[in-house]
Amino acid sequence: MLIDTHAHIYWESYDNDREEMLKRAIDSGIKYIICPGTDIETSIKAIELAEKYDFVYAGVGFHPHDAVKAGEKELEKIEELSYHPKVVAIGEIGLDFHYNFSPREKQIEVFKKQIQIAKRRNLPVIIHNRESHKEIFEVLESEIDDRWTGFGKLADGKLPPPRGVFHAFSGNVKDAWRAINLGFYISISGVITFKNAGNLIDVVREIQPEHLLVETDSPFLTPHPFRGKRNEPMYVKFVAEKIAQIQGLTVEDIERTTTFNVYRLFRIGSKPEPKIAYKIRNSLCLNITLRCNADCVFCDRKGEAIVKGYFLKIDHEPTAEEFIKEIGDPKQYDEIVFVGYGEPTIRLDVVKEVARYVKEHGGKTRLDTDGHGNIINKRNIVPELVGLIDVVSISLNSIDPTEYGRLMNIDGEKFHPAMIEFAKECKKYGIETIMTIVGIDGIDVERHRKFVEEEIGVKFRYRPLF
Ligand code: SF4
Ligand SMILES: [Zn+2]
Repeated sequence: MLIDTHAHIYWESYDNDREEMLKRAIDSGIKYIICPGTDIETSIKAIELAEKYDFVYAGVGFHPHDAVKAGEKELEKIEELSYHPKVVAIGEIGLDFHYNFSPREKQIEVFKKQIQIAKRRNLPVIIHNRESHKEIFEVLESEIDDRWTGFGKLADGKLPPPRGVFHAFSGNVKDAWRAINLGFYISISGVITFKNAGNLIDVVREIQPEHLLVETDSPFLTPHPFRGKRNEPMYVKFVAEKIAQIQGLTVEDIERTTTFNVYRLFRIGSKPEPKIAYKIRNSLCLNITLRCNADCVFCDRKGEAIVKGYFLKIDHEPTAEEFIKEIGDPKQYDEIVFVGYGEPTIRLDVVKEVARYVKEHGGKTRLDTDGHGNIINKRNIVPELVGLIDVVSISLNSIDPTEYGRLMNIDGEKFHPAMIEFAKECKKYGIETIMTIVGIDGIDVERHRKFVEEEIGVKFRYRPLF
């Protein structure tokens, strides 16, 4: 089930077969379509289609190309239209300095005024940005304030409130992070399937699906293998397949994650139930606890606690029996992972009991940990893991104790050496050991790799930040 977050289905090229085109979309598993207007006329058409079809939602606004047409009266009309119950966004709005169909100053003025509408209406914005990166960020950064909350947060976390989406994103990785940090999603179009996708491949490699949406921009930007023909919403699957391939995830992972993102941004669909066990790729992850002895700057444990479209805010700590029931036959998975949005060794007894079950039934186990288990449990726990845990993955975060302490909000002088010691113990006891870092700004990946592989002598893994 995918959601095409950007399709101009009122376009005249569908006038002869709109009904069939939409049927094909639904038959191929498209759940919803968001249809943004580009002026008053098309905004009304988008609303009419949303009234006609349950699965269509509308955006209203003036595209930068049409900014010249947007006087006070016209913008009032957009605001009035935004009260329609199926309008979920102000858009598409933004800047386009490639064509300059409207004068730049006028584009900026109309863009700002429409952001004001979005703020008043508590609606997210759908942004069009072409060759105007500098100005688009200038406008957005000057407009960000506490009143700009989109539909508001799910909980009080470290993520900014979802304010909108950069549709058919065309910037580099740095631009993408800049947008994400301002509360924007990055929407990937069929361009990702092109041979000359360039920058966009890097963006998808570095930016986790937690920040992505998928779209077609129909009738434009038709993905490979139909490039050159008219686009339509059912082709959004080619976008999802390509993202999955680049990120080493399954299409199902991309579907679930982007569907949740659509819920979070546009409030379409429903909020998923909290999960105690959740599948990513073919691994089953167990949500052992939300408690942790650290408080990492990049961790959303106390916020929304979302991972790949799963909502992990459990209201109780599951027992070993509950986990075992969820697992069933562990051989159906590549591995059973002790993880969650907390430190699993805080509940070592549960981890051991479940791991024993998995091993007795022919499964594989992995423990994802901050490596503080010996301090937490006030003894060397590594010998107890032998035979129960096949792989231990430790968050190295930094080779520098001060930086480590800063990132994790703990006493780096105490915990850093303990974490290194833990890794060495795991290796000594013959447990396959991996040390990981996340891609935070300015981190020297090669230096960390060298340290892990040469000084500790275990495996190294880099993972993009989410
Ligand atoms: S150690 Fe893991 S769970 Fe704990 S705060 Fe850091 S990232 Fe979050
Ligand atoms: Zn568009």
